[in-house]
Amino acid sequence: MHGLMMNEPLRIAGLLQHAAKWHADTEIVTRLTEGGFHRYTYHAAHLRAKQLANALLELGVQNGDRIGTLAWNNHRHFELYYGVSGIGAVCHTINPRLFAEQLIYIINHAADRFIFFDLTFLPLVEKLAPHCPNVEGWILLTDRAHMPEPSSLPDIRCYEDLLAAHSSEFEWPIFDENTASSLCYTSGTTDQPKGVLYSHRSTVLHSYAAALPDCFNCSARDVILPVVPMFHVNAWGIPYLAPMIGCKLVLPGPGLDAASLHELFENEGVTFSAGVPTIWFGLLTFMREKKARFRTLTKMIVGGASCPPALLKAFDEELGVTIRHAWGMSETSPLGTVNTPKSNQLSLSADEQFAIRTKQGRSIFGIDMKIVDDEGRELPHNGLAFGDLLVRGPFVAGGYYQSDNRTQFTPDGWFRTGDVATIDPDGFMNITDRSKDVIKSGGEWISSIDLENLAVAHPGVAEAAVIGLPHPKWSERPLLVVVRKPETDVSKEELLDFFEGKVAHWWKPDAVEFVDQLPHTATGKLLKTKLRQDFAGYEFPVVQ
Ligand code: ADP
Repeated sequence: MHGLMMNEPLRIAGLLQHAAKWHADTEIVTRLTEGGFHRYTYHAAHLRAKQLANALLELGVQNGDRIGTLAWNNHRHFELYYGVSGIGAVCHTINPRLFAEQLIYIINHAADRFIFFDLTFLPLVEKLAPHCPNVEGWILLTDRAHMPEPSSLPDIRCYEDLLAAHSSEFEWPIFDENTASSLCYTSGTTDQPKGVLYSHRSTVLHSYAAALPDCFNCSARDVILPVVPMFHVNAWGIPYLAPMIGCKLVLPGPGLDAASLHELFENEGVTFSAGVPTIWFGLLTFMREKKARFRTLTKMIVGGASCPPALLKAFDEELGVTIRHAWGMSETSPLGTVNTPKSNQLSLSADEQFAIRTKQGRSIFGIDMKIVDDEGRELPHNGLAFGDLLVRGPFVAGGYYQSDNRTQFTPDGWFRTGDVATIDPDGFMNITDRSKDVIKSGGEWISSIDLENLAVAHPGVAEAAVIGLPHPKWSERPLLVVVRKPETDVSKEELLDFFEGKVAHWWKPDAVEFVDQLPHTATGKLLKTKLRQDFAGYEFPVVQ
């Protein structure tokens, strides 16, 4: 027997429709790529998303067609999120930081029909276009005054002209909630990029989950600034969550340097932000140098890579901002776990509570997870046993776009994350490594993440990476690669001594090397494959 409730499909357009009706005057503020700021309301954004929908239909865009974007966090990109998916097409957010060959691969693999791009990316688009024969049109996200003359692209269209030519009268069509809505390729840290194809249903459910108090804990009274780009797993769902809860949204455009961010945080009264650890280290240095403070910012989600305890502590104690550590991936929409305490932990000592906060956190509703050994047997939640992390749920990918590669999917319906983790008795998951980065020394595993977190706690270290390199006796041993802070001269010996008493003796790296910078992926993560190549053939110093 079915329930007797209205069977209204969950659709992304409904989120903006809701905001336009019930939070009509709430603002969306953008730092423009062209310079200056743009401000409008959810009501106005909704009208423009409808103009865009009409424009796309006139261009001949049909259900399921892929429409690419190469854009910063800005109001026009926001309109694309809604205008494209709202008509049943797929908004394919492309990460402009990828190499040109990867971009060409992705655009051709997705068979994007049109690509909307920001002014910043014009030189990039000029390079890509000759290799993307299926793209029928390139549309520049700007107004007539900023259109380039001349360009090697024969027929670039102007976004504002396109919109101006269309009416804002539009009824969002009703369709099956499982219809594809957006497409995001994984950054390919470990492999060729793979497309994760989200649906309206998965996106709306993920937004509900993200809004929960133990998740983002945001409400209509918040002002959210997503530092995480809209081309990185849909800015972790914030462009959907903000209209759902009706809060003010601040979009930083290309200005991701610490000074520009701080200025926006202060001027717009931002209360909540989200991004990868690298960005926050930059901001922390800036705040210390300027002896600056935040007027309104009190909460932040840090994820995408392990959040070093030193960062958590500094934001807490020096800046009054509570960081929640979160874990996720493109395949989980992306939120998987968020770290907030359970009531039984509130009576623990401050140090014990802090140790828990550094973990990746508890599973949110919608994500089931388990850890398994090499034979697929489930491991206990004792905080010690580590194994492969598997997840499943209504906003977890069930396959990749146009790919029959099923290696990451188990026959009984779980997704293999490629991460290695422990889960403690309270359900707190702790990532010890990516399975490909784990260091196997004498048959035992060493967590490179734990060692990196310790290294960056040293005052002379700006950034650190630990990789396993072949060793004649132990099969692999850890090498610590460090970028020193400017004007510091910490020695290799000092750094190795720093680990003494903080980790098991055999976890201590065998050697330290200094470099000017570390290689990063397009989403700001350490690119350990490259680092392992750079140090191929490395010989550890002989210990007497
Ligand atoms: P890619 O898989 O191409 O790097 P994703 O952005 O989907 O792109 O990255 C997901 C991966 O990032 C996770 O599988 C995990 O290894 C890592 N990750 C994400 N959040 C955290 C975190 N809080 N701590 C440690 N690793 C994390």
